[in-house]
Amino acid sequence: MLEQDCLSCSCCVLITPMEGDSGKMRVMVTGGSGLVGRAIEQVLKEEGGAREGEEWIFLSSKDANLMDIAETKAVFQKHRPTHVIHLAAMVGGLFKNMRENLSFWRNNIYINDNVLQTAHEFGVEKVVSCLSTCIFPDKTTYPIDETMIHNGPPHESNFGYSYAKRMIDVHNRAYYKQYGRRYTAVIPTNVFGPHDNFNIEDGHVLPGLIHKTYIAQKEGTPLQVWGSGRPRRQFIYSLDLARLFLWVLREYNEVEPIILSVGEEDEVSIKEAADAVVEALKFKGEVVYDTSKADGQFKKTASNAKLRKYLPDFTFTPFHKAIKETCDWFVANYDIARK
Ligand code: NAP
Ligand code: GDP
Repeated sequence: MLEQDCLSCSCCVLITPMEGDSGKMRVMVTGGSGLVGRAIEQVLKEEGGAREGEEWIFLSSKDANLMDIAETKAVFQKHRPTHVIHLAAMVGGLFKNMRENLSFWRNNIYINDNVLQTAHEFGVEKVVSCLSTCIFPDKTTYPIDETMIHNGPPHESNFGYSYAKRMIDVHNRAYYKQYGRRYTAVIPTNVFGPHDNFNIEDGHVLPGLIHKTYIAQKEGTPLQVWGSGRPRRQFIYSLDLARLFLWVLREYNEVEPIILSVGEEDEVSIKEAADAVVEALKFKGEVVYDTSKADGQFKKTASNAKLRKYLPDFTFTPFHKAIKETCDWFVANYDIARK
């Protein structure tokens, strides 16, 4: 595997097979500079690399603003991908979603329509996009499965993001019906890991708690956990998600989406998640629950039965180990971490 800077710009990274490989699959990853994109890049580098015949291109928003159709077409023209992993999105935790529902709706609708239509026009064979379990109906039965995406309104806290993401599934089914395209999507639960967005106001709960615990430890102040701590979440480590993304790209051939999640039995409360962060960072101070802050959706327990049918032996990194690795990464990379 060779890693090199793209010849015509300094921002995107290329991972290409060794000389002599035939270069049949050119995979362009939108959102390649984010939490999930960086995890895919790391797994590719450390665990076998690009397979024979694969070339990988990781984009950031500096390569193209995908809300702009001309920039989207230009980046497809430049790289001519045969396959796309579509991660680029406006992403945020509960509190940013509550503040900016309109922006989440509009920005993500533009990005998704531009990427999927341009992929179609450029004859891209396969696109794997990214939904999220937070797009499922709020009033539902549990566990949630892949058939239930459109069965009722999402939780009101993040309806803009949720409806925009649900529309990817509509795109995929329509591209298949009208043009026979095999564009699909994965549905991960709450993702965390190195390179996450550790911004306290905008990010998800785990990077937020890691950053807040780090500060509380330094300043000798209490750790403020927002909400009651009772809501429940299934968390997935970004490196596990990356390994599953590679499998979906290479082996999964359905247009229907697939939930990528740990089992229902591995769901934890926000309090248990905070306890895991406190333990990993060896925080000895007081932990306070600020119940004036929103709890968001109480739970969105998802079934991974479909995934388990395909990959019965896939092993997820134990939650406490993944939390420790993420905390260690944050402490070691404090100066460069997104925050
Ligand atoms: P992230 O860390 O915030 O990264 C977002 C990526 O999208 C970055 O590479 C960013 O580029 C790019 N991007 C944003 N706006 C763009 C634009 N207008 N044009 C081009 N690129 C743009 O997000 P993530 O957590 O890796 O999320 C990846 C995917 O997983 C998203 O589709 C998200 O909806 C989905 N997902 C995430 C979670 C989660 O808990 N994080 C859970 C379920 C699903 P820059 O770096 O240049 O800004
Ligand atoms: P969600 O899983 O899509 O709802 O989004 P988050 O990852 O932002 O998780 C939100 C849940 O974590 C809610 O129950 C919040 O009350 C709780 N929470 C506790 N502390 C924090 C924090 O520091 N940041 C965030 N984003 N949520 C927190």
